[in-house]
Amino acid sequence: MFENLSERLSGVFDKLTKQGALSEDDVKTALREVRTALLEADVSLPVARDFVAAVQAKATGQAVTKSITPGQQVVKIVHDELQRVLTGDEDPGALKIDNPPAPILMVGLQGSGKTTTTAKLAKRLKEREGKKVLMASLDTNRPAAMEQLAILGMQIGVDTLPIVKGETPVQIAKRAKVQASLGGYDVYMLDTAGRLHIDAELIAQAAAVRDVANPRETLLVVDGLTGQDAVNVAQEFDDKIGVTGVVLTRMDGDGRGGAALSMRAITGKPIRFVGLGEKMDAIETFEPSRIAGRILG
Ligand code: GDP
Repeated sequence: MFENLSERLSGVFDKLTKQGALSEDDVKTALREVRTALLEADVSLPVARDFVAAVQAKATGQAVTKSITPGQQVVKIVHDELQRVLTGDEDPGALKIDNPPAPILMVGLQGSGKTTTTAKLAKRLKEREGKKVLMASLDTNRPAAMEQLAILGMQIGVDTLPIVKGETPVQIAKRAKVQASLGGYDVYMLDTAGRLHIDAELIAQAAAVRDVANPRETLLVVDGLTGQDAVNVAQEFDDKIGVTGVVLTRMDGDGRGGAALSMRAITGKPIRFVGLGEKMDAIETFEPSRIAGRILG
């Protein structure tokens, strides 16, 4: 599906290139194709519409530059506009972790990559910023998830809060805070329980943990391959819990980044990191230009 987007765009722009001049009709025809292609790439209708309108306004009436072909010129305008929509004001990789111990709340649906991302970020904070990090799993429904975090912690050399049976997520969050303070940790990461769908209990639990932990960052982890669903999930989490940023996982997959464009445009929340594989180093700071390039193909 996403392949079509880049193929279609290059097809359209090839045609433009051959014509050698950029007329208003050419731009219109090309942008109709861009709009269709964006929709097929799971970018939502209002986002695609706004996007095309912005490109139209920029492209029409722009003098055709001699040094590049009209096709390249439209590609550049589309690229710049993609980048503009995707770019936030702040450095996406700069987590707010002053005032130790700083709590980071990790939320998301089960299977989104939340636990993996928690460990990846902990490793990054430890290695790149020299931070002492404590991780705690709050997934009291799934003992396997708690074990998984402990195993990842051992792999990357990051401490995890010892598992105590019978505690509620709020009790675990409180214990993590005490342990983080006593142990001189810079950061403690709370990996909340995920479910297959957003339900009242999931939200109530995450909200209760948020209220006791008062997190500096609340990062929502979403599967970047789920397109529009990822955006709906983000919207709902943000409405009900409030998030400070999004981590898009599985960006090593086939997705072309349509979800990233809608995510930024609809939720207004910055994408902070992208997950690029299962390995503990497979995470990068979100880079708008790279995603713009991917969307264009
Ligand atoms: P959780 O249920 O949200 O905590 O999900 P997990 O962290 O257990 O991840 C579910 C699966 O997705 C695991 O097999 C991870 O290795 C895998 N995974 C997580 N992030 C990525 C990613 O960025 N790319 C790929 N390819 N796999 C990922």
